[in-house]
Amino acid sequence: MTTVAALRACYGKAEHAEPSDPFAAIVWENVAYLVDDERRRRVFERLQRDVGIDPDRLLAAGPARIETIVAPGGGMQPSRRADKVLECARIAMECAGGDLRAALKASDERGRRTLLKRFPGIADPGADKVLLFSGLSGRPALESNGLRVLVRLGHVRERASYSATYRDGIAFLSSSGVATASEAKLAFDLLRLHGRETCTRTKPSCGRCVLRATCPSARTFGSTVSRA
Ligand code: SF4
Repeated sequence: MTTVAALRACYGKAEHAEPSDPFAAIVWENVAYLVDDERRRRVFERLQRDVGIDPDRLLAAGPARIETIVAPGGGMQPSRRADKVLECARIAMECAGGDLRAALKASDERGRRTLLKRFPGIADPGADKVLLFSGLSGRPALESNGLRVLVRLGHVRERASYSATYRDGIAFLSSSGVATASEAKLAFDLLRLHGRETCTRTKPSCGRCVLRATCPSARTFGSTVSRA
């Protein structure tokens, strides 16, 4: 895919901050809210160090202790984030016997997605991401920054619902040469990085964008801001 090749030439290999273990990746999603990767990582690592990213240990620690640990993780009330972390632990115990990776491995593709979507904060994009980075699927994944880049480049049309636009984004990647898990991971990380650093939601830096020569939005930006 030429877009990914151009981004790779520009950024090199983008870092993937999130854990590869499926349960840890879900806890990572829920420990913080609307913060950068570095702050999320600090909260996650403290939870890992002081309690352990394990359903049994999280449930044994209880809400008050978890709330204290996740408090620096952003805007929403820490008690609600603690509740979500505990909900993740309960679902992992009830639906996966405490071993989410084993339960996912034992399921087919549809069963994996159904199981993952039981967890707080996990819809289709989150399920795709967890499965890809845990090595359980080679299907491409996108998050909101990467999808916005594809929309602005004209590869994907913005539709009435985010989920429909997301499905089109995945179909575009699949049909444009993103064929292996390592290519899908690279595309995910580079599109995300570009959306965060250059093609930002409200103020894209088209003047210094490596994709501007072929981007239809570069000419019109300033008067039109995509909400993707
Ligand atoms: S030229 Fe502008 S709108 Fe197009 S991808 Fe680059 S930053 Fe985004």
